[in-house]
Amino acid sequence: MKFEEIALKYALLNAKQYGKASFDAVIKRVLAEIPEAKKEIKNLIKVVENVVNEVNSLSKEEIEKRILEMSIVEVKREERKEPLPELPEAEYGKFVMRLAPFPSGPLHIGNARMAILNDYYVKRYNGKLILFYDDTIGSEEKPIDKDAYELIKDGLDWLGIKYHEVMYKSDRLEIYYKYAEELIKMGKAYVCTCSKEEIQKNRRVGIECSCRNRSIEENLRLFKEMLDGKIEEGKAVVRLKTDMKHSNPAFRDRVLLRIAEREHPRVGKKYRVWPMLEFSWAIDDYLIGTTHILRGKELIIEDMMEEYIWNIFGWRKAKFIHYGLLRLKEEGAKLSKSKTRKMIERGEIKGWDDPRTWSLQSLRKRGFQPEAIRNFILKLGLSEADITMPIDILYAENRKIIDKIADRYFAVLNPIRIKLNYDVRKISIKYHPDFPERGTREISVNPNEIYVEKEDFEKLKGKSVVLIGMFTVRLDETSEFVSYEILEETPKIHWISVPNVKIKIVMPNGNEIEALAEESVKSLKEGDIVQFYRVGFCRLDIKKDMTFYFAHK
Ligand SMILES: [Zn+2]
Repeated sequence: MKFEEIALKYALLNAKQYGKASFDAVIKRVLAEIPEAKKEIKNLIKVVENVVNEVNSLSKEEIEKRILEMSIVEVKREERKEPLPELPEAEYGKFVMRLAPFPSGPLHIGNARMAILNDYYVKRYNGKLILFYDDTIGSEEKPIDKDAYELIKDGLDWLGIKYHEVMYKSDRLEIYYKYAEELIKMGKAYVCTCSKEEIQKNRRVGIECSCRNRSIEENLRLFKEMLDGKIEEGKAVVRLKTDMKHSNPAFRDRVLLRIAEREHPRVGKKYRVWPMLEFSWAIDDYLIGTTHILRGKELIIEDMMEEYIWNIFGWRKAKFIHYGLLRLKEEGAKLSKSKTRKMIERGEIKGWDDPRTWSLQSLRKRGFQPEAIRNFILKLGLSEADITMPIDILYAENRKIIDKIADRYFAVLNPIRIKLNYDVRKISIKYHPDFPERGTREISVNPNEIYVEKEDFEKLKGKSVVLIGMFTVRLDETSEFVSYEILEETPKIHWISVPNVKIKIVMPNGNEIEALAEESVKSLKEGDIVQFYRVGFCRLDIKKDMTFYFAHK
């Protein structure tokens, strides 16, 4: 009967569109909608043949009328709507973007946005994506983490981000020196030996320091001394000559390079003069042929610097596209990487995949699906407005995907033991009530040893409840059988009996909770995602001690 209805729907639509319904087209659509119909293919063929014949005997008006009667919403075969707008001047096949993570830790949910947006556009325009580690020396507060390089790749691979090349800022110091020297020779940059405080003060009031008027020769000599280690850290910087009266004080003669003696995790102490990010990007975006740059709208000064330097050299310019800030409304989701690193060092959290880090690794551990993260990010769009997003939206995206794969099991968090006055030894229960095709499992029951949630017991004691999968009882220390009838309004509670399994569930705040679960969880594999009644979705991480990670409700 179900086949017939679906076949009729497609036959009518097909006939309306092409004048006649085609058997092939209709059967394809039916199979696409109900794949399990394959099992009854003979029957299906007969049904579709009959329906197609019937529809093809109808007049055009009758077909229209039947469609109206069935209130079929026509699915127009318009082109698949792209979730994000076109980018200005984007050319198919001639499109280059770079994804530039700073390796201070693995990517977290916030960084995922940048990665997914770049990947999305590169795929859309059949372009090239360069994974370009933004690993200049960093700062004391925000150091580079040696492990981050691999953790970032791991996160990107998991998200399905396709990058075509990998580059490192730390491999390119000589290039930055060369262009810095050129700027000095052009009289566009100078070595400033003023103190940090002086530079800041002059910038505030818009006054030039005497270094600004040094001769090119003198600047070149001082720059060489910076490189050769003859000038101490903090005693000299290279500054770009912009305009000390520029309306934006931050743009007044910004620093291009500075001395930092710290050891770099990749190149050690090989270099002591390091470029500021904007300077390195101005050079690299030109050299690697970046056509489009996606960046947060708060990074306007970076745009200005790049443009300014491109103009000096007369270089082709990349297009900037800005988007607003994304804040996740969830306690803990804003933990910074440097704070996280300190917590790991102090042993307060286990590692970068601890759920409190919100790293991609931690989300994977909890059972998040990369497609869910992608859908979530693409839905946010590319607006310049700041967005505060409840984390529930991400959870909802993930639920849509894992609900289709996760079976439902029993686990009781705060067990209270009860007895049944009714003999039952075994029950058979569906893996998922909404997906009967997944089959059933058997659960052994000992009527003298049933565990229910303490909370349920206290709330419902003396009342009729349904023990899910069994029957209705009057809930008490010894619960009496009431009926096999399951009434809609009767509260339904989960339970377990013996044998059972002790499990651990790690919550997003790092707390570990213990529970008793039905024995059939033993047949799960590591990585399997299940739904425990009342608790929510969890992913089995370690089978040895049955440790699950909680995903969401
Ligand atoms: Zn100076």
